[in-house]
Amino acid sequence: MTPEQRAELIIRDKRAVWHPYTQMKTYRSTTEPLVIEHAQGARLFEADGRSIIDGNASWWTCLLGHNHPRLVRALKDQAERLCHTSLAGVTHQPAVEFAEALLRVSPPGLTHAFFSDNGSTAVEAAVKIAIQYWVQQPKPHKDKTHFLSLESAFHGETMGATALGDVSAFRSPFAGLTMPVTHLPSPADDLTRALEALEATLRSDAQRTAALVIEPLIQGAGGMKIYSPEYLKEARRLTEHYGVLFIVDEVFTGYGRTGKFWALDHAGVSADIVCSAKGLSGGMMPFAATLVSDPVFDAFLGERDKAFYYGHTYCGNPLGAAVACEVLKVYEDERVIEGVSVREQMIEDSIRRLSALPSVKQARSLGMCAALNLGSSGDYLSTRGWEVYQRALELGAYLRPLGHVVYLTPALNIPLADLASLLSILERSVGEILADEP
Ligand SMILES: *Cc1c(COP(=O)(O)O)cnc(C)c1O
Repeated sequence: MTPEQRAELIIRDKRAVWHPYTQMKTYRSTTEPLVIEHAQGARLFEADGRSIIDGNASWWTCLLGHNHPRLVRALKDQAERLCHTSLAGVTHQPAVEFAEALLRVSPPGLTHAFFSDNGSTAVEAAVKIAIQYWVQQPKPHKDKTHFLSLESAFHGETMGATALGDVSAFRSPFAGLTMPVTHLPSPADDLTRALEALEATLRSDAQRTAALVIEPLIQGAGGMKIYSPEYLKEARRLTEHYGVLFIVDEVFTGYGRTGKFWALDHAGVSADIVCSAKGLSGGMMPFAATLVSDPVFDAFLGERDKAFYYGHTYCGNPLGAAVACEVLKVYEDERVIEGVSVREQMIEDSIRRLSALPSVKQARSLGMCAALNLGSSGDYLSTRGWEVYQRALELGAYLRPLGHVVYLTPALNIPLADLASLLSILERSVGEILADEP
């Protein structure tokens, strides 16, 4: 693309495209978007000729890097045979094979996969399954319609998922319209207080509560807040004890982000329902799965009206399913999770160096995720992280922040040299921006 063509594309973009999570007034007047022409491995290639290290695996999805040749091949092969059918009264090899393969690697006790097309719908399906599950018990619980989630949670953008979330910028316009949810203290802030609040709430509210919904070990979009596996163990035990479903949203944490295949594996526990998306299709196709246990699945068997009358047009899409099958094979053949430990060590060393800077707060990491706060206060609308973003971009890395939280979530198989560059760009850009502080 010539510089003129690139400039022209940006002008047309600003006339026609409404970008997500973006103040379009500022965008149109001052933002120079990246124009990405192609991508390979951990790198994005800008139309201006630069290559940029993708510090967040393109919204946490391309866990095997961009355009992994085996995934591209799987997609092409499937496209030549069958691109789409409904999954209603119809089945196909990719859907069956992927359901089996995913359930084989899933936390114990999960026996059926319900497919949809993204993380939000994986969670939305889980919410509806939970409500209907209680209504359809032998002794129906019509009033178990309340949900518990965590402060700082993020579970997606559909209305059920919005209700569960607690990021004010995403939630506040709709706060009066969402289903009833109690947001419990986050274990990332104070584990003891979080456990006490969970138990107290379950003790008083279990009668009306359908489910506890959590992001395991890392609360992603709410600020990359990391917490102890102890909370997962206790949450599993307490929800079982008080008769509340345990729904675990592994959309971000699953597929090795935390160094084990599922974040739940750190605690050695399972759940009644697990939601998975993002890395599940390697950043190639919108695809998601809601996994359920036998007791949950069985509650929907019986008369016609007991069915789960819910679906999305593209659920089980053959292209997505074929790629998702190949993703799991690549994890196995290339020993992707095993490769995390050497990278995790590099990330930890970098985080240790960063934590020595006086204005860096709560520098933290787990597996292939590292984060730090710039200063002690801020939220999603803070602009501080964007100064680091700009500087990192000049230095050759894409480090989109969450307000004052600067973080890295690179591909799990990022080449070691690219990871070393990415970490040094992170350290340099944070150091320089903080040094400019008044
Ligand atoms: C991203 C995310 C979602 C929403 O997924 P989409 O594909 O963007 O709809 C849900 N839950 C968690 C934990 C996420 O990180």
